[in-house]
Amino acid sequence: MAAIGKHFKYLILGGGVAAVAPYERPTLSKAYLFPQGAARLPGFHVCVGSGGERLLPEWYSEKGIELILHTEIAKAELTARTLTSVAGATFTYDNLIIATGSKVTRLTDIGVQGADCNNIFYLREIDDADKLVSGIQARKNAKSVILGGGYIGLELGAALQINDLDVTMVYPEPWCMPRLFSPEIAAFYEGYYAIKGIKIIKGTTAVGFDSDANGNVTKVKLKDGRVLDADIVVVGVGARPHTTLLKAKLLKRKEELRLIVSSRQASLVFMQ
Ligand SMILES: Cc1cc2nc3c(=O)[nH]c(=O)nc-3n(C[C@H](O)[C@H](O)[C@H](O)COP(=O)(O)OP(=O)(O)OC[C@H]3O[C@@H](n4cnc5c(N)ncnc54)[C@H](O)[C@@H]3O)c2cc1C
Repeated sequence: MAAIGKHFKYLILGGGVAAVAPYERPTLSKAYLFPQGAARLPGFHVCVGSGGERLLPEWYSEKGIELILHTEIAKAELTARTLTSVAGATFTYDNLIIATGSKVTRLTDIGVQGADCNNIFYLREIDDADKLVSGIQARKNAKSVILGGGYIGLELGAALQINDLDVTMVYPEPWCMPRLFSPEIAAFYEGYYAIKGIKIIKGTTAVGFDSDANGNVTKVKLKDGRVLDADIVVVGVGARPHTTLLKAKLLKRKEELRLIVSSRQASLVFMQ
């Protein structure tokens, strides 16, 4: 339940996900997708990976940190140092830390034909991971196509392969993770994936999808003219920062705001 008109010395906006207590997002593309012994909440709450304390909801209250969930901030008045939630609750602060993160890039956002059909999955939130797990479990030995050759694409390629799906990866670059990997390192990973039976198509992108009478994806159409059979598609083509709430105000009032943009997982917490 959100506090109304409450004042905080430090106020952190953002929490890894607003609907549950903060958790470690990286697990969602790894052990969360294991066919057996999957790591699910509450086992991977924040800091488990680094061997620290599990930051369950009680941890926050024990430390005097108020954790306010289910609360989307719709309005930020930086001069008045006030945030207002969608439900109308107001929060004032001395110091604001903005950690609102990013949202996944969807192919529907960029107008790819047929991208709204069923069984096209994304992975950003725990809800996405749950949908993907259901999709995988419903289609053992299915044909899957992964779009994107970054972290998400590579991790999902491995995850779907160990779930016994037939996996084809498609990405436009000449090798995977081109911003991080040299061609030699990429060749090592691509070779390893090939040994595992994962097919890789480089230098092209998806330009459309076909679906059946139930709206389920059946084909992925590539820019180079190839058409791939698909029962499941996973898209990992990046994320865009949430900027709408504060962008204009930040440009105007940059000097008045002590802003820390977090590059790591943070919490939707209000610290007193
Ligand atoms: C599947 C997956 C696997 C990953 N694996 C790794 C990995 O192995 N290693 C690694 O280093 N990184 C990994 N990352 C990246 C890492 O998770 C991100 O860098 C990290 O989540 C960024 O944290 P953040 O707090 O800045 O943003 P986010 O985690 O995006 O959190 C933003 C929070 O702000 C909230 N919010 C946004 N707008 C509002 C609003 N108006 N009002 C209230 N709340 C709002 C959101 O609901 C959310 O709670 C992975 C990411 C994903 C999706």
